[in-house]
Amino acid sequence: MTTTFLSELAAGLEPYVPGEQPKDKKYIKLNTNENPYPPSEAVIRAIEEEAANLRLYPDPDATAVRTAAAEYYNDALQLTGTDRLTEENIFVGNGSDEVLAFLFPTFFKGKKIAFADVTYSFYPVYASLFEVPYELLPLKEDLSVDVEQYCGGLPGDIGAVLLCNPNAPTGRALQLAEIERILAANPEKLIVVDEAYVDFGAQTAAGAVNRYENLLITQTLSKSRQLAGIRAGIAVASKSLIAGINAVKNSFNSYTADRLAIAAAAAAFRDRQYFDMTREKIISTRQRTEEQLRELGFDVIPSSSNFLFAAPREIEAAELFSRLREAGILVRYFAKPRIDDRLRITVGTDEEMDALIREIRNILGR
Ligand code: PMP
Repeated sequence: MTTTFLSELAAGLEPYVPGEQPKDKKYIKLNTNENPYPPSEAVIRAIEEEAANLRLYPDPDATAVRTAAAEYYNDALQLTGTDRLTEENIFVGNGSDEVLAFLFPTFFKGKKIAFADVTYSFYPVYASLFEVPYELLPLKEDLSVDVEQYCGGLPGDIGAVLLCNPNAPTGRALQLAEIERILAANPEKLIVVDEAYVDFGAQTAAGAVNRYENLLITQTLSKSRQLAGIRAGIAVASKSLIAGINAVKNSFNSYTADRLAIAAAAAAFRDRQYFDMTREKIISTRQRTEEQLRELGFDVIPSSSNFLFAAPREIEAAELFSRLREAGILVRYFAKPRIDDRLRITVGTDEEMDALIREIRNILGR
């Protein structure tokens, strides 16, 4: 391909590499942290009903999702008084990746940002695309976040911090009290908490957005709400921060969320029972699998997410990844410093995890 017409920026990009979506055969797919359960019946019904309206443009404000999300948080966190959320505290995007992308022109442009050396690998990709310089904050030896480093230890020229909680790909979570300490210690810095995996065992900070003007949360419907295929994500923050993202969104594309996404996401936020049932199943499957992997000699980081980040002791991680792939089981391997001895394994159904453990035993000759 000729690069004659590419901008210098485009020619220099190193794009994000998503986990593979193979087409050659049927795999047990434990590589992209999708939910193993289908969307709820209420969500399917909402999509079917909305299909008849596809002739018409969607609501550019995605009001139905914003209202349903605010109600979910008010109810789940029992928020009272000024802590309560309204639709004005919610922004809706085409997946939380897009929400994260909007944060760069809205808040980061012209500043320097910071994030962990081991975290979601899309952050540096967006930083390059939007030409925002960044600093890496090293995780501790055990791949946990050094909270003290974030409390008073951040350089003054950092305008915003991206904090993934629970972190990906480690699965480790900070307590809400630790997040609040970071917020209080950095009133001049925007603290973005990426809560893509929070529903699998960590505490959301959504109840604190009206108390901290420097807090912005992103959340996705791709993981705990089974909608990776529909592309819906949100930001939760003070009304003024949300208004800022809206101004940027409306300067780019009025309709980032389509009609099916709006109908599905709103219905998913309303179906609390299915949400709670499926996340509890995933948490219990995770606990079982974590124990089984430890019995097989793996070093497993305690996970608050829907994946396990585990280092085998008797075989190289890269080798185990390939052997599992040959056997029809896909997991994720990152050939990167500090984490190339581990595999990230999405928690599937009990049956899928039993098949994984059987195959690992087989490979290890146990
Ligand atoms: N944040 C993290 C930490 C993720 O792992 C992902 C999924 N790759 C996302 C955000 C984006 O998810 P989505 O765009 O599907 O909402």
